[in-house]
Amino acid sequence: MDFSIPAEFTTATEKFDSFIKKDIIPHLPIWSHQEELPRTFFHNMGRQGWFGLTFENGCLKRESALKESLITEKLARISPGSAIAALAHVDLGLICLFLFGSPAHQHKLGKAAVEGKTVMCLGNTENIAGSDVAGIGMQATKTEGGWLLNGTKAYVTNGWVADWGVITAVSDPDADRKRRLSMYLVDLNDTAIRRKKLNKQVWIPSDLTRLTFSDVFVPDDHLLGKRGRGLHQILEIFTNSRVPIAALTLGTAAGAFDLAVEHMQKRKIFGKHIMDFQAKAFETSDFYAKLESARLMLHKACWLVDQGEDFRQASSLAKYLSVEVAREVTLWAADIFGAASVIREHPIHKYPMDVWGASLGEGTQDVQKLIIFRQIMKG
Ligand SMILES: Cc1cc2nc3c(=O)[nH]c(=O)nc-3n(C[C@H](O)[C@H](O)[C@H](O)COP(=O)(O)OP(=O)(O)OC[C@H]3O[C@@H](n4cnc5c(N)ncnc54)[C@H](O)[C@@H]3O)c2cc1C
Repeated sequence: MDFSIPAEFTTATEKFDSFIKKDIIPHLPIWSHQEELPRTFFHNMGRQGWFGLTFENGCLKRESALKESLITEKLARISPGSAIAALAHVDLGLICLFLFGSPAHQHKLGKAAVEGKTVMCLGNTENIAGSDVAGIGMQATKTEGGWLLNGTKAYVTNGWVADWGVITAVSDPDADRKRRLSMYLVDLNDTAIRRKKLNKQVWIPSDLTRLTFSDVFVPDDHLLGKRGRGLHQILEIFTNSRVPIAALTLGTAAGAFDLAVEHMQKRKIFGKHIMDFQAKAFETSDFYAKLESARLMLHKACWLVDQGEDFRQASSLAKYLSVEVAREVTLWAADIFGAASVIREHPIHKYPMDVWGASLGEGTQDVQKLIIFRQIMKG
């Protein structure tokens, strides 16, 4: 078994560190204040090749899952809110073009999306259905030359800034539950779509937006994948995106852990540094062990993806473990800062909040347990 990280990935992550210092950290206060990521964020990420996909000879190509996880973890250590915006663009939006897009779709949007000039998102969750994906209600009605979309997508990351959205809708209401949905590529600048930015407290500065569709015309050639295969396709997207969201969650935990360790070495209580209390030293070791075990699971999932093996259970295990660990670590880390941690602007404050977001996206912990259990029963 080889646990080493390939040298080219280490070089890439070192280069990414410099990118974070120059192109992310100086701008975070203003982005957080505006609760919105500017287009320059996506453009700089894309221009420098940090999205994990390339566009070559008219086609999208995927780089290594391990490399993407290392980059995502790094970004999430500093800003989980920026990391989720990148993830929503790539692993919820762009990936649909890669997995289900025709050569024409890839040609139309692939290059601009890889370069971050075009921003993408995915709208699936509605007020009536989140975990129960098949229960969504948005209607896709067949009309001449295309479809008319009506309904509301309740929680869409990047919905405020995105140019194109991947939208699920009921195309075949009378079909079997597994065959009712289709997936559409939708131009979000259509005037028949209303966007409402929601007031949230997690994953700042990314936006969370409600999209309301009133007779939005989508041409036939914007059907993504096959008619009636939308449920199957969206579940495949979530299986894939659980790997980067596990990396994001682990990065969130690791970012909080690093801040806490630094603080414990500086802050004196009862005449000695917090770190010199053996109880705190033991807690630090405990949490480090948990972080490392979640990271091992994540890297195993990445390895399976990169080998082309079945990673369904591994991606759920990685997401499940990273959320469990991150919940514990981030609350512990916030405690280490005492009262200061509750102040919104304090650097530690965002981490426990952002794990809250991570526990919901790409399926809750209950949903991960269902998937893990199903795989146990199969195997
Ligand atoms: C910050 C943020 C960003 C998001 N971004 C997006 C996005 O970009 N696109 C998008 O489409 N969605 C997005 N979502 C929505 C997210 O995917 C859903 O919140 C999630 O899938 C859960 O769905 P729900 O909120 O409807 O909860 P529900 O499905 O109603 O779940 C409620 C509770 O029931 C539990 N539960 C569900 N099923 C079972 C079961 N079978 N057995 C036992 N318990 C169960 C859940 O674990 C949960 O505790 C985002 C959410 C947040 C918070």
